[in-house]
Amino acid sequence: MNVLHKMAEYGHEQVTMYSDPDTGLRGIIAIHDTTLGPSCGGTRMWPYASEDEALADALRLSQAMTYKSAAAGLNLGGGKGVIIGDPRADKTEALLRAWGRFVDTLGGRYLTTTDVGTTGRDLESVHQETDHVVGLDVTLGGSGDTSIMTGLGIYMGMKACAAHVWGDDSLRGKTVAMQGFGKVASHTAEHLLEEDARVIATDISQAALDKARSMGVKVVGADDIYDTDCDIFAPCALGGVINAETIDRLRCRIVAGGANNQLAVPEDGETLHRRGIIYAPDFLINAGGIINAAAEIGQPYNPDRSRQQTERIYEQMAAVLATSHKKEISTARAADLLAEQRLASVRQVRHVWRG
Ligand code: NAD
Repeated sequence: MNVLHKMAEYGHEQVTMYSDPDTGLRGIIAIHDTTLGPSCGGTRMWPYASEDEALADALRLSQAMTYKSAAAGLNLGGGKGVIIGDPRADKTEALLRAWGRFVDTLGGRYLTTTDVGTTGRDLESVHQETDHVVGLDVTLGGSGDTSIMTGLGIYMGMKACAAHVWGDDSLRGKTVAMQGFGKVASHTAEHLLEEDARVIATDISQAALDKARSMGVKVVGADDIYDTDCDIFAPCALGGVINAETIDRLRCRIVAGGANNQLAVPEDGETLHRRGIIYAPDFLINAGGIINAAAEIGQPYNPDRSRQQTERIYEQMAAVLATSHKKEISTARAADLLAEQRLASVRQVRHVWRG
Protein backbone atom coordinates (compact mmCIF):
# COMPACT_ATOMS: atom_id res chain seq x y z
CA MET A 1 0.00 0.00 0.00
CA ASN A 2 1.17 3.52 -0.80
CA VAL A 3 0.74 4.78 2.77
CA LEU A 4 1.15 8.54 2.30
CA HIS A 5 -1.21 8.44 -0.67
CA LYS A 6 -3.83 6.58 1.39
CA MET A 7 -3.37 8.98 4.33
CA ALA A 8 -4.03 11.92 2.04
CA GLU A 9 -7.09 10.18 0.59
CA TYR A 10 -8.65 9.57 4.04
CA GLY A 11 -7.30 12.79 5.58
CA HIS A 12 -5.03 11.20 8.21
CA GLU A 13 -2.55 13.18 10.27
CA GLN A 14 -0.27 10.38 11.42
CA VAL A 15 0.29 6.66 11.09
CA THR A 16 2.87 5.00 13.33
CA MET A 17 4.10 1.41 13.17
CA TYR A 18 5.75 -0.46 15.99
CA SER A 19 7.68 -3.69 16.16
CA ASP A 20 9.00 -5.31 19.32
CA PRO A 21 10.81 -8.59 18.56
CA ASP A 22 11.16 -9.43 22.28
CA THR A 23 7.40 -9.76 22.77
CA GLY A 24 6.37 -10.42 19.16
CA LEU A 25 4.30 -7.22 19.07
CA ARG A 26 3.59 -5.79 15.63
CA GLY A 27 1.14 -2.93 15.69
CA ILE A 28 -0.11 0.23 14.04
CA ILE A 29 -1.68 3.36 15.47
CA ALA A 30 -3.57 5.58 13.05
CA ILE A 31 -4.44 9.11 14.11
CA HIS A 32 -7.02 10.51 11.75
CA ASP A 33 -7.84 13.98 13.03
CA THR A 34 -7.09 15.85 16.26
CA THR A 35 -8.99 19.07 15.50
CA LEU A 36 -11.39 18.47 18.39
CA GLY A 37 -8.95 16.94 20.87
CA PRO A 38 -6.69 13.92 21.38
CA SER A 39 -7.49 11.01 19.13
CA CYS A 40 -9.36 8.19 20.85
CA GLY A 41 -10.37 4.71 19.78
CA GLY A 42 -9.94 1.12 20.88
CA THR A 43 -7.12 -1.31 20.28
CA ARG A 44 -8.17 -4.16 18.01
CA MET A 45 -6.21 -7.42 18.02
CA TRP A 46 -6.86 -9.57 14.99
CA PRO A 47 -4.94 -12.20 12.96
CA TYR A 48 -4.75 -10.00 9.86
CA ALA A 49 -3.63 -11.87 6.76
CA SER A 50 -1.26 -9.06 5.79
CA GLU A 51 0.14 -5.73 6.93
CA ASP A 52 -1.90 -4.03 4.23
CA GLU A 53 -5.09 -5.48 5.67
CA ALA A 54 -4.16 -4.28 9.17
CA LEU A 55 -3.27 -0.83 7.90
CA ALA A 56 -6.51 -0.55 5.89
CA ASP A 57 -8.51 -1.45 9.02
CA ALA A 58 -6.62 1.09 11.15
CA LEU A 59 -7.21 3.84 8.57
CA ARG A 60 -10.92 3.07 8.13
CA LEU A 61 -11.68 2.64 11.84
CA SER A 62 -9.80 5.76 12.96
CA GLN A 63 -11.64 7.89 10.40
CA ALA A 64 -14.96 6.49 11.66
CA MET A 65 -13.96 7.49 15.23
CA THR A 66 -13.42 11.11 14.10
CA TYR A 67 -16.99 11.19 12.75
CA LYS A 68 -18.44 9.45 15.81
CA SER A 69 -16.87 11.81 18.35
CA ALA A 70 -17.53 14.91 16.25
CA ALA A 71 -21.22 14.07 15.80
CA ALA A 72 -21.57 13.24 19.51
CA GLY A 73 -20.26 16.68 20.45
CA LEU A 74 -17.16 15.25 22.17
CA ASN A 75 -13.82 17.02 22.34
CA LEU A 76 -12.02 14.01 20.96
CA GLY A 77 -10.43 13.18 17.64
CA GLY A 78 -10.38 9.87 15.81
CA GLY A 79 -7.73 7.21 16.34
CA LYS A 80 -7.40 3.46 16.34
CA GLY A 81 -4.78 0.91 17.25
CA VAL A 82 -4.40 -2.51 15.68
CA ILE A 83 -2.21 -5.37 16.84
CA ILE A 84 -1.46 -8.07 14.29
CA GLY A 85 -1.98 -11.42 16.04
CA ASP A 86 -4.45 -13.96 17.30
CA PRO A 87 -5.87 -12.74 20.62
CA ARG A 88 -6.46 -16.32 21.77
CA ALA A 89 -2.90 -17.51 21.05
CA ASP A 90 -0.57 -14.51 20.94
CA LYS A 91 -1.77 -12.20 23.69
CA THR A 92 0.59 -12.04 26.68
CA GLU A 93 1.11 -9.56 29.47
CA ALA A 94 4.50 -8.64 27.97
CA LEU A 95 2.96 -7.95 24.54
CA LEU A 96 0.22 -5.78 26.08
CA ARG A 97 2.74 -3.85 28.14
CA ALA A 98 4.88 -3.33 25.03
CA TRP A 99 1.74 -1.97 23.36
CA GLY A 100 1.31 0.36 26.36
CA ARG A 101 4.86 1.66 25.87
CA PHE A 102 4.11 2.28 22.20
CA VAL A 103 0.91 4.19 23.07
CA ASP A 104 2.92 6.20 25.60
CA THR A 105 5.44 7.34 22.98
CA LEU A 106 2.67 9.40 21.39
CA GLY A 107 2.46 11.54 24.52
CA GLY A 108 -1.36 11.61 24.71
CA ARG A 109 -2.10 12.28 21.04
CA TYR A 110 -3.79 8.85 21.10
CA LEU A 111 -5.94 7.48 23.95
CA THR A 112 -6.67 3.80 23.80
CA THR A 113 -9.44 1.55 25.08
CA THR A 114 -10.82 -1.91 24.27
CA ASP A 115 -12.10 -3.21 20.94
CA VAL A 116 -12.51 -6.58 19.22
CA GLY A 117 -9.88 -8.96 20.65
CA THR A 118 -9.01 -6.87 23.73
CA THR A 119 -10.73 -6.79 27.13
CA GLY A 120 -10.90 -4.57 30.18
CA ARG A 121 -8.35 -6.85 31.83
CA ASP A 122 -5.93 -6.38 28.94
CA LEU A 123 -6.34 -2.65 29.34
CA GLU A 124 -5.04 -2.96 32.89
CA SER A 125 -1.75 -4.39 31.53
CA VAL A 126 -1.56 -1.58 28.95
CA HIS A 127 -2.20 0.90 31.77
CA GLN A 128 0.91 -0.35 33.61
CA GLU A 129 2.97 1.42 30.93
CA THR A 130 0.87 4.44 30.01
CA ASP A 131 -1.74 6.78 31.46
CA HIS A 132 -3.24 7.33 28.01
CA VAL A 133 -6.01 4.79 28.55
CA VAL A 134 -9.79 5.23 28.98
CA GLY A 135 -12.52 2.73 29.86
CA LEU A 136 -10.77 1.06 32.78
CA ASP A 137 -12.93 -0.80 35.26
CA VAL A 138 -14.88 1.37 37.72
CA THR A 139 -12.94 -0.21 40.61
CA LEU A 140 -9.82 1.40 39.09
CA GLY A 141 -11.47 4.80 38.77
CA GLY A 142 -12.46 4.25 35.14
CA SER A 143 -15.85 4.39 33.39
CA GLY A 144 -16.19 0.61 33.01
CA ASP A 145 -18.46 -1.35 30.65
CA THR A 146 -19.30 0.78 27.60
CA SER A 147 -22.23 -1.35 26.44
CA ILE A 148 -24.65 -0.02 29.08
CA MET A 149 -24.58 3.54 27.70
CA THR A 150 -24.35 2.24 24.14
CA GLY A 151 -27.64 0.42 24.74
CA LEU A 152 -29.25 3.56 26.18
CA GLY A 153 -28.10 5.68 23.23
CA ILE A 154 -29.54 3.25 20.69
CA TYR A 155 -32.86 3.28 22.51
CA MET A 156 -32.88 7.12 22.48
CA GLY A 157 -32.04 7.10 18.76
CA MET A 158 -34.91 4.67 18.11
CA LYS A 159 -37.32 6.97 19.95
CA ALA A 160 -36.27 10.00 17.89
CA CYS A 161 -36.87 7.98 14.72
CA ALA A 162 -40.27 6.85 16.03
CA ALA A 163 -41.31 10.47 16.65
CA HIS A 164 -40.38 11.27 13.05
CA VAL A 165 -42.20 8.29 11.52
CA TRP A 166 -45.28 7.96 13.73
CA GLY A 167 -45.53 11.44 15.26
CA ASP A 168 -45.09 9.98 18.76
CA ASP A 169 -41.86 8.74 20.29
CA SER A 170 -43.50 5.99 22.33
CA LEU A 171 -42.28 2.51 21.41
CA ARG A 172 -45.12 0.83 23.29
CA GLY A 173 -46.55 -1.95 21.12
CA LYS A 174 -43.86 -1.50 18.44
CA THR A 175 -41.93 -4.56 17.28
CA VAL A 176 -38.13 -4.43 17.25
CA ALA A 177 -36.19 -7.22 15.49
CA MET A 178 -32.64 -7.49 16.84
CA GLN A 179 -29.84 -9.20 14.95
CA GLY A 180 -27.43 -10.36 17.66
CA PHE A 181 -28.32 -10.43 21.32
CA GLY A 182 -24.98 -9.67 22.98
CA LYS A 183 -24.11 -6.94 25.46
CA VAL A 184 -25.36 -3.93 23.51
CA ALA A 185 -28.57 -5.55 22.26
CA SER A 186 -29.55 -6.88 25.67
CA HIS A 187 -29.10 -3.45 27.29
CA THR A 188 -31.15 -1.85 24.51
CA ALA A 189 -33.81 -4.53 24.98
CA GLU A 190 -34.10 -3.74 28.70
CA HIS A 191 -35.28 -0.22 27.82
CA LEU A 192 -37.57 -1.46 25.06
CA LEU A 193 -39.23 -4.08 27.25
CA GLU A 194 -39.70 -1.57 30.03
CA GLU A 195 -41.67 0.53 27.56
CA ASP A 196 -43.76 -2.49 26.52
CA ALA A 197 -42.25 -2.83 23.07
CA ARG A 198 -42.21 -6.33 21.56
CA VAL A 199 -38.68 -7.64 20.98
CA ILE A 200 -37.74 -10.43 18.56
CA ALA A 201 -34.10 -11.54 18.39
CA THR A 202 -31.67 -13.90 16.78
CA ASP A 203 -28.11 -14.89 17.62
CA ILE A 204 -25.65 -17.65 16.76
CA SER A 205 -24.74 -18.20 20.40
CA GLN A 206 -26.87 -20.50 22.54
CA ALA A 207 -26.03 -18.48 25.68
CA ALA A 208 -27.26 -15.29 24.02
CA LEU A 209 -30.49 -16.99 22.91
CA ASP A 210 -31.05 -18.34 26.43
CA LYS A 211 -30.61 -14.84 27.81
CA ALA A 212 -33.09 -13.46 25.24
CA ARG A 213 -35.70 -16.08 26.18
CA SER A 214 -35.19 -15.42 29.88
CA MET A 215 -36.05 -11.75 29.25
CA GLY A 216 -39.26 -12.70 27.41
CA VAL A 217 -37.84 -12.06 23.95
CA LYS A 218 -39.09 -14.19 21.06
CA VAL A 219 -36.31 -15.96 19.20
CA VAL A 220 -36.09 -16.63 15.43
CA GLY A 221 -33.48 -18.30 13.16
CA ALA A 222 -30.35 -16.35 12.21
CA ASP A 223 -31.30 -15.79 8.59
CA ASP A 224 -35.03 -15.27 9.25
CA ILE A 225 -34.43 -12.00 11.05
CA TYR A 226 -34.25 -10.07 7.76
CA ASP A 227 -37.74 -11.23 6.73
CA THR A 228 -39.32 -10.62 10.13
CA ASP A 229 -42.29 -8.27 10.10
CA CYS A 230 -41.30 -5.45 12.44
CA ASP A 231 -41.31 -1.70 12.96
CA ILE A 232 -37.58 -1.41 13.68
CA PHE A 233 -34.77 -3.64 12.43
CA ALA A 234 -31.80 -3.39 14.79
CA PRO A 235 -28.43 -4.74 13.57
CA CYS A 236 -26.49 -5.44 16.78
CA ALA A 237 -23.90 -7.99 15.66
CA LEU A 238 -21.97 -7.48 12.45
CA GLY A 239 -21.07 -4.76 9.98
CA GLY A 240 -22.09 -4.79 6.30
CA VAL A 241 -25.51 -6.36 6.95
CA ILE A 242 -27.43 -3.64 5.14
CA ASN A 243 -26.64 -4.42 1.54
CA ALA A 244 -28.20 -4.83 -1.89
CA GLU A 245 -29.43 -8.33 -1.04
CA THR A 246 -30.82 -7.70 2.46
CA ILE A 247 -32.52 -4.33 1.79
CA ASP A 248 -35.02 -6.12 -0.47
CA ARG A 249 -35.95 -8.41 2.40
CA LEU A 250 -36.43 -5.82 5.15
CA ARG A 251 -40.01 -5.37 6.37
CA CYS A 252 -39.55 -2.40 8.68
CA ARG A 253 -39.94 1.39 8.69
CA ILE A 254 -36.72 2.08 10.62
CA VAL A 255 -33.20 0.59 10.73
CA ALA A 256 -31.57 1.47 14.07
CA GLY A 257 -29.01 -0.68 15.84
CA GLY A 258 -25.63 -0.79 17.54
CA ALA A 259 -23.34 -2.55 15.05
CA ASN A 260 -20.55 -0.47 13.51
CA ASN A 261 -20.39 0.02 9.73
CA GLN A 262 -23.86 -1.41 9.05
CA LEU A 263 -23.99 -0.19 5.45
CA ALA A 264 -21.97 -2.45 3.15
CA VAL A 265 -21.33 0.56 0.89
CA PRO A 266 -22.40 4.22 1.28
CA GLU A 267 -24.90 3.80 -1.60
CA ASP A 268 -26.95 1.47 0.65
CA GLY A 269 -27.84 4.51 2.77
CA GLU A 270 -29.21 6.18 -0.35
CA THR A 271 -31.21 3.05 -1.27
CA LEU A 272 -32.84 2.97 2.18
CA HIS A 273 -33.68 6.66 1.79
CA ARG A 274 -35.29 6.15 -1.63
CA ARG A 275 -37.38 3.30 -0.22
CA GLY A 276 -38.65 5.43 2.66
CA ILE A 277 -36.88 3.37 5.33
CA ILE A 278 -35.45 5.68 8.00
CA TYR A 279 -31.83 4.77 8.74
CA ALA A 280 -30.38 5.85 12.09
CA PRO A 281 -26.67 6.33 11.24
CA ASP A 282 -24.71 3.79 13.29
CA PHE A 283 -21.92 6.10 14.44
CA LEU A 284 -24.50 8.58 15.71
CA ILE A 285 -26.71 6.27 17.77
CA ASN A 286 -24.03 3.85 19.02
CA ALA A 287 -21.88 6.66 20.47
CA GLY A 288 -22.95 5.99 24.09
CA GLY A 289 -19.81 3.93 24.68
CA ILE A 290 -17.36 6.62 23.62
CA ILE A 291 -19.44 9.25 25.43
CA ASN A 292 -19.10 7.16 28.60
CA ALA A 293 -15.35 6.71 28.16
CA ALA A 294 -14.85 10.43 27.40
CA ALA A 295 -16.60 11.29 30.67
CA GLU A 296 -13.52 10.14 32.62
CA ILE A 297 -11.04 12.36 30.75
CA GLY A 298 -9.75 15.28 32.79
CA GLN A 299 -12.29 14.81 35.60
CA PRO A 300 -13.52 12.07 37.90
CA TYR A 301 -16.00 9.81 36.13
CA ASN A 302 -19.60 10.83 36.81
CA PRO A 303 -22.20 8.32 35.56
CA ASP A 304 -25.02 10.90 35.74
CA ARG A 305 -23.18 13.24 33.39
CA SER A 306 -22.45 10.37 31.06
CA ARG A 307 -26.13 9.34 31.06
CA GLN A 308 -27.29 12.90 30.35
CA GLN A 309 -24.88 13.23 27.46
CA THR A 310 -25.93 9.87 26.05
CA GLU A 311 -29.60 10.87 26.23
CA ARG A 312 -28.77 13.80 23.94
CA ILE A 313 -28.47 11.27 21.11
CA TYR A 314 -32.25 11.77 20.85
CA GLU A 315 -31.78 15.44 19.87
CA GLN A 316 -28.83 14.67 17.60
CA MET A 317 -30.87 12.04 15.76
CA ALA A 318 -33.81 14.47 15.50
CA ALA A 319 -31.46 17.12 14.04
CA VAL A 320 -30.19 14.64 11.46
CA LEU A 321 -33.77 13.72 10.50
CA ALA A 322 -34.64 17.41 10.14
CA THR A 323 -31.60 18.06 7.91
CA SER A 324 -32.37 15.00 5.83
CA HIS A 325 -35.93 16.25 5.32
CA LYS A 326 -34.98 19.86 4.61
CA LYS A 327 -32.10 19.17 2.23
CA GLU A 328 -33.73 16.06 0.70
CA ILE A 329 -30.67 13.95 1.44
CA SER A 330 -30.31 10.60 3.17
CA THR A 331 -29.90 10.47 6.95
CA ALA A 332 -26.50 8.83 6.36
CA ARG A 333 -25.33 11.88 4.41
CA ALA A 334 -26.97 14.26 6.92
CA ALA A 335 -25.04 12.66 9.81
CA ASP A 336 -21.77 12.97 7.89
CA LEU A 337 -22.57 16.64 7.33
CA LEU A 338 -23.24 17.17 11.04
CA ALA A 339 -19.78 15.81 11.88
CA GLU A 340 -18.02 17.61 9.01
CA GLN A 341 -19.61 20.95 9.88
CA ARG A 342 -18.52 20.70 13.51
CA LEU A 343 -14.97 19.83 12.46
CA ALA A 344 -14.90 22.72 9.97
CA SER A 345 -16.22 25.24 12.49
CA VAL A 346 -13.72 24.25 15.22
CA ARG A 347 -10.89 24.29 12.67
CA GLN A 348 -11.88 27.88 11.90
CA VAL A 349 -11.71 28.88 15.57
CA ARG A 350 -8.28 27.30 15.90
CA HIS A 351 -7.18 29.19 12.80
CA VAL A 352 -8.30 32.46 14.39
CA TRP A 353 -6.55 31.63 17.68
CA ARG A 354 -3.31 30.88 15.95
CA GLY A 355 -3.60 34.15 14.04
P1 NAD B 1 -21.16 -8.88 21.75
O1 NAD B 1 -20.03 -9.76 21.31
O2 NAD B 1 -21.52 -8.85 23.20
O3 NAD B 1 -22.49 -9.24 20.95
C1 NAD B 1 -22.52 -9.57 19.60
C2 NAD B 1 -23.49 -10.73 19.45
O4 NAD B 1 -23.70 -10.95 18.06
C3 NAD B 1 -22.95 -12.03 20.04
O5 NAD B 1 -23.90 -12.58 20.94
C4 NAD B 1 -22.77 -12.93 18.80
O6 NAD B 1 -23.00 -14.29 19.06
C5 NAD B 1 -23.79 -12.35 17.85
N1 NAD B 1 -23.56 -12.67 16.45
C6 NAD B 1 -22.38 -12.78 15.77
N2 NAD B 1 -22.61 -13.11 14.48
C7 NAD B 1 -23.96 -13.21 14.34
C8 NAD B 1 -24.81 -13.51 13.25
N3 NAD B 1 -24.32 -13.80 12.04
N4 NAD B 1 -26.15 -13.49 13.46
C9 NAD B 1 -26.66 -13.22 14.69
N5 NAD B 1 -25.89 -12.94 15.76
C10 NAD B 1 -24.57 -12.92 15.59
O7 NAD B 1 -20.78 -7.43 21.22
P2 NAD B 1 -21.45 -6.05 21.63
O8 NAD B 1 -20.51 -5.33 22.53
O9 NAD B 1 -22.86 -6.26 22.00
O10 NAD B 1 -21.36 -5.27 20.23
C11 NAD B 1 -22.31 -5.51 19.20
C12 NAD B 1 -22.02 -4.57 18.04
O11 NAD B 1 -22.08 -3.23 18.48
C13 NAD B 1 -20.62 -4.74 17.41
O12 NAD B 1 -20.74 -4.50 16.03
C14 NAD B 1 -19.81 -3.64 18.07
O13 NAD B 1 -18.72 -3.24 17.24
C15 NAD B 1 -20.86 -2.55 18.16
N6 NAD B 1 -20.59 -1.55 19.20
C16 NAD B 1 -20.41 -1.94 20.48
C17 NAD B 1 -20.20 -0.97 21.45
C18 NAD B 1 -20.04 -1.33 22.90
O14 NAD B 1 -20.09 -0.44 23.74
N7 NAD B 1 -19.90 -2.60 23.25
C19 NAD B 1 -20.17 0.40 21.11
C20 NAD B 1 -20.35 0.76 19.77
C21 NAD B 1 -20.57 -0.23 18.82
